[in-house]
Amino acid sequence: MTTITGLATSRGLVAGPVFLYRGYGESVVPEYTIAEDRVEAEIARFRQAQNATRKDLEQLISTLRERTGRDDVQIFECHLMMLEDPMLEDLILKCIREKRVNVESAVRQVVDEQREKFARMNDAYFRERVRDLDDIERRFQDQLADRAREPYLELTSPAIIVADDLTPSESVQLPREFVLGFATNGGSTTSHVALLACALGIPAVTGLGDITSRVTPGGTILLDGTNGAVTIDPDERALKEFRAMIDEQKRLAARDDASTPAGTLADGTSIHLFANIHPGVSMDGLKELGARGVGLYRSEYLWLNLGREPTEEEQYRAYREAVERTMPLSPRTTLTLRMLDIGGDKAVRGVTAKEQNPFLGNRSIRYLLSQQSVFRTQLRAVLRASAHGRIMILYPMVSCIEEIQAAKRVMAEVREELDREGVEYDRKILVGIMIEIPSAALNADAFAKHVDFFSIGTNDLVQYTMAADRSNEAVAHLYQPTNPAVLELIRRTIAAAKRAGIPVGVCGESAADPIMGVLWAGFGIDMLSMSGTYIPAIARILRRLTREELSEYAAVANGMDPSSSSAEVFEACRRWMYRKLPDLDTLLV
Ligand code: PEP
Ligand code: MG
Repeated sequence: MTTITGLATSRGLVAGPVFLYRGYGESVVPEYTIAEDRVEAEIARFRQAQNATRKDLEQLISTLRERTGRDDVQIFECHLMMLEDPMLEDLILKCIREKRVNVESAVRQVVDEQREKFARMNDAYFRERVRDLDDIERRFQDQLADRAREPYLELTSPAIIVADDLTPSESVQLPREFVLGFATNGGSTTSHVALLACALGIPAVTGLGDITSRVTPGGTILLDGTNGAVTIDPDERALKEFRAMIDEQKRLAARDDASTPAGTLADGTSIHLFANIHPGVSMDGLKELGARGVGLYRSEYLWLNLGREPTEEEQYRAYREAVERTMPLSPRTTLTLRMLDIGGDKAVRGVTAKEQNPFLGNRSIRYLLSQQSVFRTQLRAVLRASAHGRIMILYPMVSCIEEIQAAKRVMAEVREELDREGVEYDRKILVGIMIEIPSAALNADAFAKHVDFFSIGTNDLVQYTMAADRSNEAVAHLYQPTNPAVLELIRRTIAAAKRAGIPVGVCGESAADPIMGVLWAGFGIDMLSMSGTYIPAIARILRRLTREELSEYAAVANGMDPSSSSAEVFEACRRWMYRKLPDLDTLLV
């Protein structure tokens, strides 16, 4: 028996037999130079393979749609766009013509360059998109080699998938009814496996290094997605103890997950628990997790996934599908669609400019206001989609009132344009702003007069208040969500929203944290929005607390001396929480 640790990627405990998935391994790609008179023939082979790959993908998309209406199809729609990306196509054709190489080699060279670019990106999500490139390249090379694609996973009974990592194609075609959990060598918390596991509430541990070479197919493993540990070949005693823990958790979950909807407090009042989503990630299972709506739709992922500006039609289709999938989550629900939040850590080559200091640069609403055609195109797509379900528009990175006023002017012009064209849209669409820059939080009373709602983006608010890059390990100790200054800005924002009578939510990562998310609830926010997978835990905690207790909890933080450290504030909150809920740990799984 051995226990190895990796990244706790999706919470939960599961014991079961190993299904060792080896994938395709490295397929050999023939690479050779060609004579000049072969160039046109190679280009014809390229076109043929491109057509065949397109058909293959279209077939896959329609099968997936028929099966369950699963929206992983978005991943493959992105693959289709990559396949037809004119920039990639030009590079490949240029490579064939100028370097005189066969198609296989040209595709490999161009894709390798793109892979390197992705791998160098700061954002983990984009580094993971290398898997999409692998996937689409493999599909393309298979067509060129006329290789039949092997059946995916021949999984016919419940098991834990142990793999190096899975491509989107592999993840999506799994017979999910048999997947108990995932344990992978590679991957990260933003890999496809991670996104899938979180969306479905299946336990997963990634980044295990060499687990594939340590397990035996069919052997038993104990997977603890909450603590990021996997025990291989457990002895009788370990197995028995683990099973007892699973039973205990089931019992607690059954007790807590009573019939009240997620977000209900012990006194029957409620707080909206919404999901954060983005294009390319599945919305399956959100309802089961307790999401009552979408509190943050990060539209910029359309740009990031494509590496270019999407057309109005591409945007319209994505937004419409997202809002249509949101409506069944609860009566009168909404999808809060955040306008393009690009720049900073979310740079897109060829779209955003290279800047000395991108986090303080021409990003988000600043970018939209400086690129009116991009702004108008997005507004047109959003407004058109608003005819198909309730959308609320959210502007990111607003730092001054003039930006809201300028955005309103553009919106009025776009609405007039749509009116002239006789296009339907929601005429009562609400418009709000992210509060993620200290200037907006400090002057929240004034901002509240100009908008319909606030959404506090703690990820950036902490970064800008503390002047500590949210993705820089070297200053991670200064990235302090419970620093008294940050708490003061959050309190001010909430108080201003209350005075103006507009709703206010939190959509940063802290919303999912049992100590901080619940503290924001105590401060009086109306909505917490987070990755769907975290909703059940927060819902279980809220079910056990009354409004009065939440106020008592808020008073702990409010009563701290402003010279307290962030760690002291956090510790005081943590102590209160464990006193109130001694079994807190069991509520988190
Ligand atoms: C935030 O800043 O808290 C937020 C939710 O936005 P993002 O993480 O996308 O910047
Ligand atoms: Mg932000």
